[in-house]
Amino acid sequence: MMTRPMEQSALSLSRRNFMKAGVGAAAMLSTFRLDDAIVKEAMAQLLDGAVSILWLHGAACQSCTISLLNTTYPDVVDVILGTLPEVKMDFDFQTVIMLNWGDRAIEQLKNPPKDYILLVEGSIQTKSDGAFCTIGEIDGRPVTMKDWVMRLARDAMAVIAIGTCASYGGIPAGSPNPTGAVGTIDFLGVNYASRLNLPIVNVPGCPPHPDWMVGTLASVILAAKKLYPFPELDPLGRPTMFFGKSVHDDCPRRGQYDEGIFAERFGHDGCIYQLGCKGPISYADCNSRKWNNGLNSCTISGAPCLACVQPEFPDKSSPFFEPLPIPPLSLKEAAGIGAVVGGILAGAYWIQGRRSKHHGEQK
Ligand code: SF4
Ligand code: SF4
Repeated sequence: MMTRPMEQSALSLSRRNFMKAGVGAAAMLSTFRLDDAIVKEAMAQLLDGAVSILWLHGAACQSCTISLLNTTYPDVVDVILGTLPEVKMDFDFQTVIMLNWGDRAIEQLKNPPKDYILLVEGSIQTKSDGAFCTIGEIDGRPVTMKDWVMRLARDAMAVIAIGTCASYGGIPAGSPNPTGAVGTIDFLGVNYASRLNLPIVNVPGCPPHPDWMVGTLASVILAAKKLYPFPELDPLGRPTMFFGKSVHDDCPRRGQYDEGIFAERFGHDGCIYQLGCKGPISYADCNSRKWNNGLNSCTISGAPCLACVQPEFPDKSSPFFEPLPIPPLSLKEAAGIGAVVGGILAGAYWIQGRRSKHHGEQK
């Protein structure tokens, strides 16, 4: 019988200990708007190690993993270095942060444990039979990312796409997309259902907020264990607890938008819509949750939202520093009703883009 090297290693870092970060993790999870009982149950499920995490990296920059490392409760440096005795991490396969390596690592993919959740980071390249991205070998032959995803998705308890590339294609799928990169749902098909009959969950963002990733993972584990309902998803497959409101809704510059006060240059006072902000058409809680441990966000810092969580990022968000090509409506005239009108127009804009993408129309 195959043994799982990490369980035997003196350096083994278990999910049990990772989630024993207890107080800090509970504080973080509580911001996910789950009640205490749910938080405790999520932790318990992670604690007992019942669910294995297999995290694949396709065409991406690894920034999603880097963002995960910015989780603050528990502090990830202590997690990885093991300097907090109770805080340890054990993903069975995660290219960047796992302690497995070489054949031992690939063995986790070849013979996964019965209960595992597949996380996909990066888009899946389909042209040239996926030869652009390979992970390890079987019988001396490189195995493509495309083949691993197809193989592992079959028996996964659930599949989570981490980041915009894995969710919708993202930057690698930007025009002209020479490698045929696609998001997980486009690769597996909109009718894909996991072994537990669960749909793919998308956690977009370039990168996603650490809370979005850890919170979604905890929620999906609970659903996979049939302890809590599957998280509510929006029509783009995103958990509404994180992606239910627009960046525009909670922006501190929103009053200026409504008043028609627009900055003409970066650093000037005012809403930065005219400088390219796509906040009205981007759905994520960046301005209420805030980034960097609740400190800041793109628009709070004075940078336009680039709509990094939307399916058409980056092509439809570009040029980044030009206003949306939303049909003729003077921003001044829109003041007061601007939020509503802008939202409707922007929604139509994105829907049109999404339809084009799914119907395979070329730009
Ligand atoms: S357009 Fe951008 S900067 Fe202006 S209020 Fe909306 S999100 Fe904030
Ligand atoms: S504000 Fe916009 S660009 Fe910035 S992280 Fe949020 S969705 Fe992405």
